[in-house]
Amino acid sequence: MAADYDLLVIGGGINGTGIARDAVGRGASVLLVEMGDLAGATSSASTKLIHGGLRYLEYYEFNLVRKALKEREVLWRAAPHIAWPLRFILPHHKDLRPAWLLRLGLFFYDHLGGRELLPATKTVRLDRPPFCQGLKKLFRKGFEYSDCWVDDARLVVLNARDAADRGAEILTRTKCVSARRDGGVWSVVLKDLATGEDRKVTADVIVNAAGPWVAEMLSGVVGANNASRIRLVKGSHIIVPRRFEHDRCFIFQNGDGRIVFAIPYEGDFTLIGTTDVDFEGDLEKVGISGAEIDYLCEAASEYLEEPVIPEDVVHTYSGVRPLYDDGAKDAKAATRDYVLELDGGEDAPAVLSVFGGKITTYRKLAEQVLQKLEPFLPFKRGVWTAYAPLPGGDFRVDAFADEVARLRADYPFLGEAFATRLTRLYGTDARLLLGDATDLADLGRCFGHDLYEREVVWLIDREWARTADDVLWRRTKLGLRLDAGQAADLDAFIAGCLAERTGAAA
Ligand SMILES: Cc1cc2nc3c(=O)[nH]c(=O)nc-3n(C[C@H](O)[C@H](O)[C@H](O)COP(=O)(O)OP(=O)(O)OC[C@H]3O[C@@H](n4cnc5c(N)ncnc54)[C@H](O)[C@@H]3O)c2cc1C
Repeated sequence: MAADYDLLVIGGGINGTGIARDAVGRGASVLLVEMGDLAGATSSASTKLIHGGLRYLEYYEFNLVRKALKEREVLWRAAPHIAWPLRFILPHHKDLRPAWLLRLGLFFYDHLGGRELLPATKTVRLDRPPFCQGLKKLFRKGFEYSDCWVDDARLVVLNARDAADRGAEILTRTKCVSARRDGGVWSVVLKDLATGEDRKVTADVIVNAAGPWVAEMLSGVVGANNASRIRLVKGSHIIVPRRFEHDRCFIFQNGDGRIVFAIPYEGDFTLIGTTDVDFEGDLEKVGISGAEIDYLCEAASEYLEEPVIPEDVVHTYSGVRPLYDDGAKDAKAATRDYVLELDGGEDAPAVLSVFGGKITTYRKLAEQVLQKLEPFLPFKRGVWTAYAPLPGGDFRVDAFADEVARLRADYPFLGEAFATRLTRLYGTDARLLLGDATDLADLGRCFGHDLYEREVVWLIDREWARTADDVLWRRTKLGLRLDAGQAADLDAFIAGCLAERTGAAA
């Protein structure tokens, strides 16, 4: 029997959307289902670094670090609106790792591979401007090295958008509730969580990219045995008002052997994270604990001149890392690399499950998934994503300011901050979003902080936004600026738009 789809991808996080995009670009027919919002789980709760992971060198994860380091510039080139380089300052702490060890680690980090554009490591003085600002006086020496930043949730949405533009079907708020092998194909039941309706589809191959739910999905929904195990490790971040004026990030060594980042965030804030806590419980209700807030405040206060206290915290977010369980004693030591497990294939329809993985390595992971599935899928081409821009990312990595200037030239009614925000989120697609607007009134109702109706409608129609939370915390970060009343107005507006569309379709 011919299946409805060549490939069904379960999970709309970074791994699922990355795999769906790559597969549809190779000519497969693809359906992706996500039970919540795109990036609604772990993929919007990361530290948002495209990094090799300096710390992983201590666990001899050279392969992972090399693979990840190479991806930094690949992803920056593919999406220069949502990804950009960052310089990190690593202060030397006299009671922790010796300076020679830090220098050695950074030497490897610089030379393991893939660094063409990013500047190399250098030693810096911390007792003079600009870095003395914000730091305690007792830190005199440190090292400055490069990594990149990415808006994780937007990276997910742009992968989904590109997949859809190439022909994939993307269904959000749709849960895969059962999948059975039946006459040489997968027979799958999907539940539309908005309407409660079930829909049956068939697929030749399933990719299980359900993140923290991967094992539950495999045994409970697909009914297969899994040899690999998952280790759930919660990580949380706090956001506080901005602590230093320069644009560098700090990487602080902590007494327990962990590191904590303090990163300039959304202009007015500093993002501090993360924690590593083994997680058990309800994956739908993941939140920061008081102990984690205290831990992050103490870790940052060890270095920052003005102590960080729980009362400073304006927002928090938490996520659960779906790590491959390599039997490590400590959560912080569990491998961050991924394992791909294939069930079936030759004699029965295949299901491939993704255990672990990082935002940074999602593109390579997708390539390896599809390499494993190549015998079972009708691909018309091979690897292609390394040089293909994501939507809105078709400009040079050093041309962001030019893009903002060009947008302002085409739309003179935009202020600098508004044009910068739109270019950061949508890149060259900001023009498509603004369309024929000739003044602010053409953008419709304003919900606060330059969030206008036209942008919200774009997010509903082009980016699967269905609630105010989707818009305020994942498609944008305006949740940090809008108050509860404005968010409620936005929710009501979105509900009205969706009801209108359903009415028109009926
Ligand atoms: C605190 C923290 C910090 C991190 N920092 C970084 C970092 O700086 N850099 C980096 O590279 N990585 C980082 N990571 C790792 C990275 O965020 C994760 O590895 C990655 O997001 C996992 O993506 P995923 O697609 O596998 O899972 P998820 O994003 O969780 O996606 C899985 C999706 O599957 C859906 N799903 C589950 N079951 C079903 C079903 N039955 N039907 C339909 N849908 C279903 C879920 O709703 C979910 O959206 C961090 C992780 C954490 C927690």
